[in-house]
Amino acid sequence: MKQVVIIGGGPSGAAAALTLLDAQIPVTIVEQTPFPRFRPGETLHPGLEPLLARLGVAHQLESAGYVRHLGVWSGWGGAMQFVPYGMDTSGPWRGYQAIRADFDQRLLGSARSRGAQILAGKVSGVLCNASHEVAGVMTSDGPVAATYVIDCSGGAHTLARQLHIPIVRHSPQLVARFGYATGCCDDPSPSIRSDQHGWTWIAEVEPNRFQWTRVTEVHDRPGLTWIPPNLRDLEAEPSRSANVTWRMAERVAGPGYFLTGDAAAVLDPSSSHGVLRAIMSGMMAAHLVARHLCDGAEAQVCTATYQDWLANWFQHDVEEMSRTYCAANLFGFC
Ligand SMILES: Cc1cc2nc3c(=O)[nH]c(=O)nc-3n(C[C@H](O)[C@H](O)[C@H](O)COP(=O)(O)OP(=O)(O)OC[C@H]3O[C@@H](n4cnc5c(N)ncnc54)[C@H](O)[C@@H]3O)c2cc1C
Repeated sequence: MKQVVIIGGGPSGAAAALTLLDAQIPVTIVEQTPFPRFRPGETLHPGLEPLLARLGVAHQLESAGYVRHLGVWSGWGGAMQFVPYGMDTSGPWRGYQAIRADFDQRLLGSARSRGAQILAGKVSGVLCNASHEVAGVMTSDGPVAATYVIDCSGGAHTLARQLHIPIVRHSPQLVARFGYATGCCDDPSPSIRSDQHGWTWIAEVEPNRFQWTRVTEVHDRPGLTWIPPNLRDLEAEPSRSANVTWRMAERVAGPGYFLTGDAAAVLDPSSSHGVLRAIMSGMMAAHLVARHLCDGAEAQVCTATYQDWLANWFQHDVEEMSRTYCAANLFGFC
């Protein structure tokens, strides 16, 4: 019997599950953290809107009442200017300021209500069959067999590590320090400013609640109590940090498996594309699994298609971002 196991119930896991369920393929999501759970990354690109509509969850998210915005204020190597996302005949494109704990829970809740089985537990190993194809996972609750495993476990790169797939670095070691501050601030939002050591992002994610992110090379990382100067009079929450070094697994698909979202590739959050890439790659991987299992497409063709598609996308973003950083004389990109 066909069965797909998804590691992780974040945006890529939920998007993969919804796409598979659409094709009548049974899905089990193994998630180690009880939802709602915290994740940074509230500024969602407008390109998400058609994807959410395709997944049948746009209406539900509309009712969440997230703040929408038309573009980003950019002080990238100069004076601040507003950079709109763009528009088409139906009007300007609008991004979302979503509260990720809520957004991710809504997506996972939709997958559950359409029939995904959610298993609370941690994936600690991978099962392979006699032909060395991935055939399931070992969880804290025991083994779960699968026709395919889709790794949506985020920056932990669970499956790549289990399968000894190298994670290739494409930038110097970059670190994000991020936090929240509550109070009044008249700065335009969302905004990004560069300086000689890195860049700082500020977004009003809820009325009078600001998320900030500071990205630098590791040796320039700010201290634990650092907060952007414009937010210093506000009430600050303790900050955290994350490794946002650009990296991609050398292989993102193979016999019995696909890697999606941050589990496949990570770029620093300057372009606010992380959730978009997570959802789109989750949908693409699931679509190709369905092409193989339901339409008889050759497995090797499906995995090669995915490998090329994601590698080209990643490479394109790497080239664009390298050019931007080079122009701002940041992180040694030229
Ligand atoms: C500081 C910062 C700011 C960011 N800002 C933005 C932004 O503004 N806009 C944007 O689009 N993106 C942003 N991002 C990127 C964005 O957060 C990620 O790209 C996105 O969360 C990736 O989604 P995902 O589904 O791949 O993984 P995740 O959201 O990380 O979900 C992975 C899930 O897998 C589970 N899991 C992990 N390991 C296991 C295991 N072994 N067993 C079972 N479950 C497991 C985890 O508990 C988690 O729920 C930002 C990132 C950072 C660090």
